[in-house]
Amino acid sequence: MLKPPYRDTPDLRQAIIDACRDMNRQGINQGTSGNISARADDRMIITPSGIPYDRMTPDMLVSIPLDGLGKPEGPLPPSTEWQFHLALLQAKPEMHAIVHAHPVHCTALSINREEIPACHYMIALFGGNSVPLAGYALFGSEELAGEVVTAMRDRHGCLMANHGAVVAGETLEKGLWRLEELEVLARAYIISRSIGTPHILSDGEIDSVLGAVANYGLKTA
Ligand code: 13P
Ligand code: ZN
Repeated sequence: MLKPPYRDTPDLRQAIIDACRDMNRQGINQGTSGNISARADDRMIITPSGIPYDRMTPDMLVSIPLDGLGKPEGPLPPSTEWQFHLALLQAKPEMHAIVHAHPVHCTALSINREEIPACHYMIALFGGNSVPLAGYALFGSEELAGEVVTAMRDRHGCLMANHGAVVAGETLEKGLWRLEELEVLARAYIISRSIGTPHILSDGEIDSVLGAVANYGLKTA
């Protein structure tokens, strides 16, 4: 298993593709939706735009300087969402991967323009007492990048209005894990509302979880 700091190697590129295939296999994304990037030295390696993951090969991925200066390198155009990937990697030096997808339950909440409140202690995986909602903007736009970075200022993930979800990961593996947990949270929250009235945990209760959860989970960071 690869550990950060990552290098731009065929193994890293394959690990990004494997993570994309994994999210589709698990049903938390579909088709060519979504995109994944990783920090490799002073560059970002990101999936190309609109290519089915089962046909994607390591040489198709695109390399972009992390400072945003200089041209993308690769045989195909980068993901349309490269701007929020780049902005998040720039804003979060401790994070080495960004995972974006259209998981159905996250998307359903985002269509209703709702955030996820502290309905379960695992909300703390996202760095606070909620998973916020980024405002709507056209997919692939600089404006959307601004909305996402603002929503994730002090969080590791957010919902995106009428679109989907994005998370940051200390590793690629943790990014994928966080996205899976986010979709489970969204699903549980929706179900809890359909059978009654959810009880939301207090800020004090979440504060106690935040310390405990910092050391929980995959020890690959
Ligand atoms: P790309 O295929 O360009 O990465 O776009 C997919 C997507 O989810 C856009 O928001
Ligand atoms: Zn998308």
